[in-house]
Amino acid sequence: MDTQSNAALSNLGALDAAHHLHPFSDMKKLNAVGTRIIERAEGSYIFDNHGKRYLDGFAGLWCVNIGYGRKEIADAVYRQMNELPYYNTFFGTTTPPAVLLAQKITSHAGAKMNRVFFTGSGSEANDTWFRMARVYWAALGKPTKKTIIARKNGYHGSTVAGASLGGMKWMHEQGDLPIPGVVHIGQPFWYGEGGDLSPAEFGLKVARELEEKIDELGEDNVAAFVAEPIQGAGGVIVPPETYWPEIARICKARNILLVSDEVICGFGRTGHWFGYQHFGVEPDLAPIAKGLSSGYLPIGGVMVSDRVGDVLVNEVGDFNHGFTYSGHPVCAAAALENLRIIEDEKLVERVHDDIGPYLAAGLKSLEDHPIVGDTQCVGLMGAVQLAEDKATRLRFEDKEKAGVMVRNHCLENGLVLRATGDRMLFSPPLIITRAEVDQMVETTRKGLDHALKELKG
Ligand SMILES: *Cc1c(COP(=O)(O)O)cnc(C)c1O
Repeated sequence: MDTQSNAALSNLGALDAAHHLHPFSDMKKLNAVGTRIIERAEGSYIFDNHGKRYLDGFAGLWCVNIGYGRKEIADAVYRQMNELPYYNTFFGTTTPPAVLLAQKITSHAGAKMNRVFFTGSGSEANDTWFRMARVYWAALGKPTKKTIIARKNGYHGSTVAGASLGGMKWMHEQGDLPIPGVVHIGQPFWYGEGGDLSPAEFGLKVARELEEKIDELGEDNVAAFVAEPIQGAGGVIVPPETYWPEIARICKARNILLVSDEVICGFGRTGHWFGYQHFGVEPDLAPIAKGLSSGYLPIGGVMVSDRVGDVLVNEVGDFNHGFTYSGHPVCAAAALENLRIIEDEKLVERVHDDIGPYLAAGLKSLEDHPIVGDTQCVGLMGAVQLAEDKATRLRFEDKEKAGVMVRNHCLENGLVLRATGDRMLFSPPLIITRAEVDQMVETTRKGLDHALKELKG
């Protein structure tokens, strides 16, 4: 490296503060404390510019399913770059990796899910099905079926449609969202909102909010319902078992499309290829991204069932939608190699049969801690719910403070976790070892001890 870039490297923090705006960040506060600079990674570990090692309990941002440093992906990308670095899939052309990837994805998606529309990200995937669902109903002569029902505290990305579908109030407040035609119902968060109902009763109750909302709007005005199988950014909220079957029943009875946002839950995270398979439901549309390429290169898409796909292909004519990078050959090559690794190393089975239950047991062992109210875990997607009083499910007055306290203590001790309010979130690479899970659980317990002392004296 030349002297100029060496000088720049030693000064990265200052340059970052001066020139780089970060996502979901208060830049004034961030610039005051400075950013952490991550330089390299291997397996389940990341390393910062001081050489400090962290166990990545979050797989980057829910995405590095196969772990870091997989040379096979680098090689596949290098080969594809040399062969064909870019070509579009507009105007009657296609590229080998895009075709093969579409086939490979659908081979795991169930008998009725046979087509994929590619995008560059999960947000674009949500924007894509948003239009697709309306186009579908219009093609069937029902142009008034337009409204999309989504959920409070759901997350579907940061584009205008994605953020509108999401149910984050603090996102809606910026930029005058949601856009018209999107409405929200309650979330299946029993611990926080279930009151005196049993989880099973509460699951049915919130699912039936969908039926009530459809009837209020009129079935002829509703296009689709969208939800994450397990809410991710909202706090790894695993719904009660009664929830998804009731949702599926209502969508069918009221003739609206069911959209399962698989951006986090897809590609092994839940111990199945897709989150809807864990809950035994069959969606009509399913946005994907993140684990599709394990984050090595950006790529997303929408899986399209035959119900919608056949109409799109046979009735619609031009679907006037697409991205320069739809089916990008290099990103597709990375994704293909990623899926080959997931298949060959049987990572989905590993999560389902071995390491998923092991993490669940590890988190469960934390339930004896004085400030842990509950834990939830499906596959390698887990949450630890903090509580002020376990017996009454009383939560801390300042939820943010409690979560940040545990998170920061873990970070100091070499573990990256995420806190959403008073829920500690776990989403490690699918290749994480049992010893690493043990380390994650032990470090979390120390973080909890620290927070207990700070919060309760
Ligand atoms: C991350 C995420 C998105 C958005 O994906 P981006 O690639 O960040 O645009 C959409 N839906 C869910 C469920 C997500 O977790």
